Amino acid sequence: MTSFYYTDAMMTLDDKTAQERIQALREKLNTHNYLYYVLDTPEITDTAYDALYQEILALEREHPELVTPDSPTQRVGDEPLKEFSQVTHINRLYSLDNAFSIEDLQNWEERIKRLLPAERYSELSYVAELKLDGLAITLIYEDGHFVKGATRGNGVVGEDITQNLKTIRSIPLRIPVKNTKTPVPQKFEARAEAVMPINSFLHLNEERQQRGEPEFANPRNACAGSLRQLDPKVPAHRNLDALFYAGILIENGHQPPIPTHWEMLNYIESLGFKLNPARKQCKTLDEVAEFIEKWGKQRTKLGFATDGAVVKVDSFALQEILGYTAKSPRWAIAYKYPAEVKETIVKEVELSVGRTGVITPIAIMEPVQLAGTTVRRASLHNFDEVRKKDIRVGDTVRVQKAAEIIPEVLEVVFEKRPESSINIEEPQNCPVCEATTTRFHGEVAIRCSNPETCGAQRRTRLEYWVSKQGMDIDHVGPALIDQLVREKLVDGPVDFYKLMVDDFLKLERMAEKSALNAYQSIQESKKRPLHAVVNALGIPHVGKETAILLTHHFHSMEKLADASIEELMEIEGIGPKVAESIVGFFGDIENQNMIADLKALGITMHSKAATEDMLPKDTSHPFYGKIFVLTGTLPTLTRDEAEEGIRKVGGKISSSISKKTDYLLLGENPGSKYDKAAKLNIPILEESEFKALL
Ligand code: NAD
Repeated sequence: MTSFYYTDAMMTLDDKTAQERIQALREKLNTHNYLYYVLDTPEITDTAYDALYQEILALEREHPELVTPDSPTQRVGDEPLKEFSQVTHINRLYSLDNAFSIEDLQNWEERIKRLLPAERYSELSYVAELKLDGLAITLIYEDGHFVKGATRGNGVVGEDITQNLKTIRSIPLRIPVKNTKTPVPQKFEARAEAVMPINSFLHLNEERQQRGEPEFANPRNACAGSLRQLDPKVPAHRNLDALFYAGILIENGHQPPIPTHWEMLNYIESLGFKLNPARKQCKTLDEVAEFIEKWGKQRTKLGFATDGAVVKVDSFALQEILGYTAKSPRWAIAYKYPAEVKETIVKEVELSVGRTGVITPIAIMEPVQLAGTTVRRASLHNFDEVRKKDIRVGDTVRVQKAAEIIPEVLEVVFEKRPESSINIEEPQNCPVCEATTTRFHGEVAIRCSNPETCGAQRRTRLEYWVSKQGMDIDHVGPALIDQLVREKLVDGPVDFYKLMVDDFLKLERMAEKSALNAYQSIQESKKRPLHAVVNALGIPHVGKETAILLTHHFHSMEKLADASIEELMEIEGIGPKVAESIVGFFGDIENQNMIADLKALGITMHSKAATEDMLPKDTSHPFYGKIFVLTGTLPTLTRDEAEEGIRKVGGKISSSISKKTDYLLLGENPGSKYDKAAKLNIPILEESEFKALL
């Protein structure tokens, strides 16, 4: 106690202010770290976070005596979630220091040179790679088999997400993936960034918005949120990818040592890992600067979110001399591309009514050029968000593109608020059909209470029915739907299937070929699987993933329609809100009639598992009664097609190899099933042989 007073009294005023500021920043950053790394729901932008972080870094540099072990500058990430079993990493995982300009990179090079003996400067060269914005993952391979996969966690201990990672197709379950002369190490660690492609992210958020669920802030959080789910079915349906950027030989086997990072990248590529495509070996920082400039323009076309470029010293020997700080390697640095932020004015707020009746406020703004496109509109997500940010019509706002993709209103420039600014009120009535609005308990979304007759919703529902997520009907888009509705040819999904070619020909500017295409696409969609039909119905709170869960459980529309709330809630992943919504939907007489009509028109009402029992069986077929296991990607058939072929002739599909397995159908990049089958002497069929026998 005494010493505390003594120290405090000895401090200059500056020191004291610095201590208070450091304390405040530490608390703030630790809160944001928790929101970002543990809950995957950041509340501030990365730029705002980076600014706070740079501030504490500068203060701690000035006052090294104030650095404490719990400072965010001394810790990687955050604590792993308790729900997962924890993995102590064989090799620690680190974060990266940041550079925000080429000058910062030059300073970094200076620092490196101070740590290296001058006679080794000639060995100094770099590798530049685009920095993918996802979740750091580490994978352990033993004798070529993927045995364990984990998140970075706090760098020392991560979460065991092996099962979830197995659902990512680009993660090899066995290396080498193809026949190659590359020697396989006995024990090997591969590091990658797990990412959600931008398109998948946009789809997922659209679905979540339709269901009134909170949207993910960016692809990084969507990916992390998907991989940190206890049920592997969730990541399995989220189309994730993994791009590798490092390898560590733990036990070499016959593999000679690899001297540089660049050669390590080539080595892991030859084993069959998918690599970050944007990478370059650079002799000098000038070449690094060229790489940064080139990819600054092109990175938006990659299909993945990126937030910078990582520059690494190429030579492993030099990396070893340079070593690590508490948080990052000294031999690598992340250049962060500046986020473009512009000011513009909110001219009005439009209310958009979605498929399930959710009303979303959209800010219509003075057009502004941002990250390569003109931005005029930005979703304000919901009215809680509008209130939190205190946005009014007439306000000057700062806008940016979140993860360089989605325009978002960051904040209001309050100094510029005009006296005439107008509050944005929650609508009491649906802007389209005037019905009163409602808010479900615990939800932020406001909905139209009259989804059945609301015209806008009817239209959106028809558009959803034909969309890729729904029945995937080509040649029938919003413009054609407009015409069909105007001509009173279509009112609900059932009407699509009653249209004849002549009906299309009655429409303005409709050529015979287009009429035929539209007709055929609609007819073809009758064969879409049951989960697509369930999803296309647009049941509130039921999106693609829930539709798959339901189909997997019930196998038929009839059984699903008959299910009680209790039965539905027995399914893992279905809560009371979804269950109530489903029962409510099928309890509605109009919906019952629609399902009966769809059935009569020949739309799929059973899933494969149920239809399996109804199929005629030719007992003389060589595959009749045989149990198949499939592994790898087949050259021409999709998994569904192959499985359907097997079921059609009375064969069965199993997901794992056992003594009872009759055949293994082998594709490219097979998993461990292949080895197991070989050990048990199970006959292995390649696609060509399989097709011939079928
Ligand atoms: P980081 O993401 O800036 O850099 C380290 C990570 O980069 C590695 O773990 C690796 O996964 C990844 N990476 C991607 N491509 C790579 C490549 N080619 N080579 C090597 N690594 C590659 O560091 P971090 O500690 O994970 O996160 C810090 C950053 O996260 C901050 O700068 C901030 O932008 C953001 N953040 C934001 C908030 C918020 O509230 N918005 C909170 C915490 C952190």
